[in-house]
Amino acid sequence: MKSLVDRQVGTRIAKMLQEAQHKHGRIHDADIHRIADQFGEPVRVIQDVIGFFPHFRRTAPPLCHVSVCRDMSCRLRGSVEIANKLRELQKDVGDATLEITEASCLGRCDRAPAMLINDLLYVAHAPMECIDAVRATMDGCSPKLDSDMDTATASLARAEIDCYRTINTAKTIRGEAPSTYYAAVRAYVRDPNPDKVIQALKTAGLMGMGGAGAPASDKWNEARNAIGEAKYVVCNADESEPGTFKDRDLMLAAPHLIIEGMIIAGLVSGAKQGFIYIRHEYFEQIARLESAIQDAVRLGACGHDIFKSGRDFRVEVFVSPGGYVCGEQTALIEALEGKRSEPRNRPPELQTNGLYDQPTILNNVETFAWVPSILLQRPSPEALEKEQASIASGTVEPAGLWYKYSGRNRSRGKRFFSISGDLNRPGSYEVPCGITLGELIDEYAGGMREGVPLQAVALSGPSGGFLPAWLPKGAIRFPKKTDREGKETDELKFPKLVGDPTDIKLLPLDLNASREIGFMLGAGIVVYNENADMLDQAIACSRFYQRESCGKCVPCRLGSRKMVDMAESLLTKTANDELDHVKKVAMELASIMEKTSICGLGQVASNPLRSYLRFFHSANR
Ligand code: SF4
Repeated sequence: MKSLVDRQVGTRIAKMLQEAQHKHGRIHDADIHRIADQFGEPVRVIQDVIGFFPHFRRTAPPLCHVSVCRDMSCRLRGSVEIANKLRELQKDVGDATLEITEASCLGRCDRAPAMLINDLLYVAHAPMECIDAVRATMDGCSPKLDSDMDTATASLARAEIDCYRTINTAKTIRGEAPSTYYAAVRAYVRDPNPDKVIQALKTAGLMGMGGAGAPASDKWNEARNAIGEAKYVVCNADESEPGTFKDRDLMLAAPHLIIEGMIIAGLVSGAKQGFIYIRHEYFEQIARLESAIQDAVRLGACGHDIFKSGRDFRVEVFVSPGGYVCGEQTALIEALEGKRSEPRNRPPELQTNGLYDQPTILNNVETFAWVPSILLQRPSPEALEKEQASIASGTVEPAGLWYKYSGRNRSRGKRFFSISGDLNRPGSYEVPCGITLGELIDEYAGGMREGVPLQAVALSGPSGGFLPAWLPKGAIRFPKKTDREGKETDELKFPKLVGDPTDIKLLPLDLNASREIGFMLGAGIVVYNENADMLDQAIACSRFYQRESCGKCVPCRLGSRKMVDMAESLLTKTANDELDHVKKVAMELASIMEKTSICGLGQVASNPLRSYLRFFHSANR
């Protein structure tokens, strides 16, 4: 068995490949041989890793490479037309001068359509503007590139996640962090009580914000109790789900909150090393996190001998070589180890066998970012009074009560949603859990663009499929309330949703509630008005999964291809018996993929087509 140090070599190799790609715009044979020689690895091992990730390029780059986002909101805002115009230009100037590729979601859905020009972010407002920018690049000039700074400051301006209330100042965004930061770390090293922190997270009800929604307290506790040569904390900043861009703003405007959450996780679990795994298209965020880590070290909150406690915890940024599947937690760990990013079979879980097979806490950016507020914000006197008995019995920790009581309609906590599409104010918003979808659309996102009525909503990027504005009878499950003994009563849990049809705007934005009524709820919501072509969206989302499938397991590798074929066939099939056949096969295949795929990607890959066939087909064609 390899030693821990040997196993860490893969991470260094992955970093060196990234550096080579960044420096030359490609990876040369000489780079591969140099890296293989340095670490004593066979050349084929390095080549195998390079071949997996689309970001690594072996051929010479053209003078100008444009990568246009083709997913959800960018597609709604005309990215396909822009790509077509650029291809016409490509025919004129030649492939060696201009290369056009299509990219999966670039995380700028609020400013769609987005693209990369020579690996730098550009947001176009019209096809001609984009053509001009590309021509300028081919002439050796730099087009005006886009920045996330304004949207990040707007998103975090009044956010309660910032317990330091300093996010919205030029000094903290562009300069050094004030010494008041890292108060939760200071408090912990004065009174190192891991049980208290874990109990506070449990009281708060903090769930993973990356999609799966596992309780953070369970993950932290399991990793803390696990035995290993070393332990690790990993922050998943590989925000690649189409429609999702909330972590982008958090990393830019409040990186210290994320780093502080990771340090606390390290101190609680006994880990001494943390990694922030971030997608490579988040250029500003990468630089911002690196400078924030240096600030934390300068303040004594991170690195060696934290606040003179004798405890160490280092954080470093690891830039992803790309691919949606890397957001799957075990695939992310594989990529971080310098391997092909193929998901692992589970169990064992990462809390016992994570990075380098050691106990690992892996949480999403937002999950870590809530930790300082949970530990530092004071609960209201009403909350304290209500929980008096539980506090006295030790089952509730007062530190978690502020977050617990910040939700709405019996939901716990707050969270961020990114919302985009046909809206007046697409953006990333911190909201109390339990508000309705209608409140998010109308009060936060400014209502429907140009007043065109709502047709559909994707509540979890493409993963949950599309839901119609009016949900027909049978689309919602109606669980019953339970009594104190856990026995079912006759009362419904969500009586306001009873209707035939039900207005989708009444749906509560709460992870537990959405599971109970039978919907997926992610962090990225895309809204479509009546003019949207839902078949085009269903085809595009099916293609997304087919492209992003890592190919490790057959149901997903072949099933996602078949889903695309069936979705595309709907463009020409019109006879009822043909359509019935497609529907039958799609539903059967979807069920097989859901049950037999190794990871979440294959399990949800059929949802765009399945939901289109269920709710939209006859309405659209
Ligand atoms: Fe790879 Fe798809 Fe299988 Fe996941 S479900 S392991 S993405 S082939």
